[in-house]
Amino acid sequence: MRLFESYIQEKTIMKSNKENKKMFKIINNVSLVISSPLSKNVDLDYVIGFLQKKIHQKFWNCIDGVYVIELPDFKQRNINAMFKDGVVYVTGNQDSSEDFLDDIVHELAHGIEEKHGNLIYGDKQIENDFLQKRVEVYNKYFKKSGLDNKTLYNLFIQPEYSKELDDFFYKDIGYDKLRNMTNDLFMTPYGITSLREYWANTFENFVLGQKERAKQICPKVCQKIIYLLGDEQEEYMSDDYIDNRQYMDYINEKQGWKYDF
Ligand SMILES: [Zn+2]
Repeated sequence: MRLFESYIQEKTIMKSNKENKKMFKIINNVSLVISSPLSKNVDLDYVIGFLQKKIHQKFWNCIDGVYVIELPDFKQRNINAMFKDGVVYVTGNQDSSEDFLDDIVHELAHGIEEKHGNLIYGDKQIENDFLQKRVEVYNKYFKKSGLDNKTLYNLFIQPEYSKELDDFFYKDIGYDKLRNMTNDLFMTPYGITSLREYWANTFENFVLGQKERAKQICPKVCQKIIYLLGDEQEEYMSDDYIDNRQYMDYINEKQGWKYDF
């Protein structure tokens, strides 16, 4: 049994859900469970409304749930969230609703690639695109500095995460400089980290409101996002997309909803 399922099947959790509203349905089979304190900076109504209205249920069906919890991994690895065994785990320590949302959507993207890895990466289109961009950055940086580094180049042309390369991006180049250099290649500098982060970084920004920019600078990733939606893609691609079925279910269930977007 998966960790998440074992959690949600515990009667105590179900009971506390009823009493304290700690468990919120996103879609029928996917819930947001709050097990550690969630920052007061987060407007939970807004977040759940956004997740329901702006993210297609085909994407939600790739994961089992979202769990707000403080995992030892977060501190040890200096991260805010992770995807593991079908579940998005996310810290409740958040600066804002947007911060919370981007953590959840980013990890959801990892859930989607885990489920649809072959469809997303099988034809190598995204990988080729990603590596081409990496080489472009390498050339830009090293041509300018007059340096050349065969070891680093070999890291640039492999798609998997590398701690050494990550340190190079973060410490040697620096994210501010990297942002300037890669503004027309990656949604944010983090997209250069690895092939998987390229996917998640693009998906996250696409969903969180930068559809047009994403289509412009990461078309291969966007084509796959759209492809995954099958015959429902046209509806989803409109900027004012709202998953009305989920939205209506939600407001019927809940009173005091804030209609703020
Ligand atoms: Zn990631």
